[in-house]
Amino acid sequence: MLDKPLSKSMLDTPVAQRMPREIAPGVFWIGDCLAQRHKGKVYHGYNAAFLVAGEDASILVETGHPKDFPVIERHMNELFARGIAPLKYLFVTHQETPHCGGLGRVLKTHPDALLVGDVSDYHLAFPQYEHRMRWMKEGDEIDLGGRSFMAVEPVIRDLRTTYWGFDTRERVLFPGDGFAYSHYHEDGHCGLVAEEAVSLDLPDVSSTFADLALFWTKFADMNAYCDRLDHLIARLDVRVIAPTHGLPITDVKATVPKVQEGLKAAALMPETGTNEKAPAAAT
Ligand SMILES: [Zn+2]
Ligand SMILES: [Zn+2]
Repeated sequence: MLDKPLSKSMLDTPVAQRMPREIAPGVFWIGDCLAQRHKGKVYHGYNAAFLVAGEDASILVETGHPKDFPVIERHMNELFARGIAPLKYLFVTHQETPHCGGLGRVLKTHPDALLVGDVSDYHLAFPQYEHRMRWMKEGDEIDLGGRSFMAVEPVIRDLRTTYWGFDTRERVLFPGDGFAYSHYHEDGHCGLVAEEAVSLDLPDVSSTFADLALFWTKFADMNAYCDRLDHLIARLDVRVIAPTHGLPITDVKATVPKVQEGLKAAALMPETGTNEKAPAAAT
């Protein structure tokens, strides 16, 4: 745990230079932060990607934001140079830019890799790769050698085509937008797991993200969704959660209730919209 102030040099080191970080054996967190301004504050978000390495094959989960492609590629090459199994699969949780924006480049750079998951519409953007796209349904598994990667129920999703992923060996859940929250660069949160970022107010940053990105949570009973999430976590015996936009969660029992608190709080607030509101003009 982080119990002393962060040194200046750590704040000055971009997160891209501190990754890859192995968050469970053979599961590597890669990518970079994205700074966004909201209500006068600079929030950092991740558009993270994860590489899961089996004995025979590796799978890339999400591609990162298009701006991050050089960083993602460098991180992957570092891992391949260390001897992890070659990239044979790419799984993206859904068809939105921060999740799949590097898809064409990954398929071009890794000609043996197949795109797997809900592959709706990708062939319209990349007809040249249609023969490398494979559908997965919930419960389908891909054998990576010594571990497999499964498509699982997406309890809290952005699009109807979303699937979540799951690594069966280390029991890591990849929930895409499911655990989305920002963090503060100034507080040294970049590159930390949720439990290390002790000064991060998880309910607050989770509710902000839900407010901005998951509008439907305003119109749903989030108690039902949070109960379903608990059910999925228990059924799969999830030990680590690797969200695309949030910090990885390594203590599921302690941290998940804080994120759920944020989702429930955001559902009760009126939507603020994605733009700063200008005062209404006098009539
Ligand atoms: Zn997203
Ligand atoms: Zn950051």
